[in-house]
Amino acid sequence: MASSVSRGPKLTNLLLCCFIGIFIPFTLASHHGPSGVSDDPKMESRAKPTQPKRVLCGYGIDLDAVSLWANTGDGTSANPSDISRGIYGATVGVDRVLSFLDRHHIKATCGLHGFTHEHMSALNASQEEEILSVSLDKLSKFLGKKPSGWTAPAWTPSPHTVQLLEKYGLEYDHSFMHHDSQMYKLPYVPTVKATDVTKSPSTWMQPMSELRASSIVEIPANWHLDDWPAFNVGNGGNGYIDTDLIFKMWTEQFDFYYQEYDSFVFPITIHPQVSGKPHVLRMHERLLKHINSYEGVEWMTMVEMSNLYKSGQIPGHVVEGGAAL
Ligand SMILES: [Zn+2]
Repeated sequence: MASSVSRGPKLTNLLLCCFIGIFIPFTLASHHGPSGVSDDPKMESRAKPTQPKRVLCGYGIDLDAVSLWANTGDGTSANPSDISRGIYGATVGVDRVLSFLDRHHIKATCGLHGFTHEHMSALNASQEEEILSVSLDKLSKFLGKKPSGWTAPAWTPSPHTVQLLEKYGLEYDHSFMHHDSQMYKLPYVPTVKATDVTKSPSTWMQPMSELRASSIVEIPANWHLDDWPAFNVGNGGNGYIDTDLIFKMWTEQFDFYYQEYDSFVFPITIHPQVSGKPHVLRMHERLLKHINSYEGVEWMTMVEMSNLYKSGQIPGHVVEGGAAL
């Protein structure tokens, strides 16, 4: 498939970027306001909502590429065939995803995503800070501006993550799951006592500490809106799920939110080495037809969602819980 997006000299940078496992920016035409109506006759007959809806949809691209396979998690050597899958993602997969987004005038999201896809929950605070600092510097140079957001690789943040995001001046995060369709002020990670059955129950029978909001806007992560678990072969993915099943799962979530809320966010997480596969891309085409058949749908980047929330133009959720210890 020919891509309408120029790769040219940017490709070298893009490939370097792939290796360090950070999101890449997809600079495509901005498209705001009500989206196009589906050419599916069944979709066109959908009833209008009783009151205006505002639905912020977006694609978050976890490029991952080689980084995810280079980091085997236990220091062992990577499988060269897996490395080739990462290269496929950074070349063939990216071209197809860019072409798909371009056709639909969707601007996807740019953000930080580790260096070699480190699981932050396995690191100490100084290791995590070094990775954040170096990747922020490299991505800022690549973009020519500072990125606004961060996504924990494999959605494994640490107890230190939120404070570090604040320290480095980031606007939003896309790693936590306190809600599935509303933005909110991300709480600091609470203290939860580990249940160690080799000890007396009195050592763990304590409440979770009280949740306190940070300045970071959370655009919720959602394993049920991620292409990896269903369609990637291995490394946490099943690989052989019927796209009709996942289409149904994703559209049922969308339909439910549309029924329940006047406004909501619908952030979809994809990986070019997964969503660049023909059968998955065709599912995305069907998904867009479904979503765009609704009134009030807007496609945008995550920082645009975050800005709308921070300026009070779209409401969100308040996360509360825990106990003062
Ligand atoms: Zn990733």
